[in-house]
Amino acid sequence: MFKLDDEAALLAAFRPKDQKQVEVPKDLALPRLVHDYLAWTHPSGGRVFLIFQVPGGVPIGIAFDADGGGGGASVPHLCEWCHQTGAGNQVGLLSATVNAKRRAGVHVCVDLSCGKKLEEAADLGGYSARPGLEKLVARMARFAEQALQIDPLGSGR
Ligand SMILES: [Zn+2]
Repeated sequence: MFKLDDEAALLAAFRPKDQKQVEVPKDLALPRLVHDYLAWTHPSGGRVFLIFQVPGGVPIGIAFDADGGGGGASVPHLCEWCHQTGAGNQVGLLSATVNAKRRAGVHVCVDLSCGKKLEEAADLGGYSARPGLEKLVARMARFAEQALQIDPLGSGR
């Protein structure tokens, strides 16, 4: 759990090159405590924003482009982050800028509703969602670190 004090703190989680693309939702109440992660989609679609924090780390923001799902809606796809399956229009490629020449992508729930899906699965299965949510945030951090070269612990910012 981490706290976002205001819009400046929210924007500061993103890399400078991403900050101008970030659209803060009008209905996002700040300050707020964030459990696990915060995600929202751009009102006009096509972009998804994520902020998470690993234990001992700093809030990390990622600005994703959504390319609109991985294909046939009837074919189930596996989300790489929450490991829940969704139809092709629910699980798709989100990509983010690594540098001027490269992008990196991950196949996940296109609205990043991973946490909600894990909670629903846990409720149905009668077990705690907590371990799954912690693994989810760890996978987000691994993507940030390995694919985007962002240090989740905040050094080198
Ligand atoms: Zn997911």
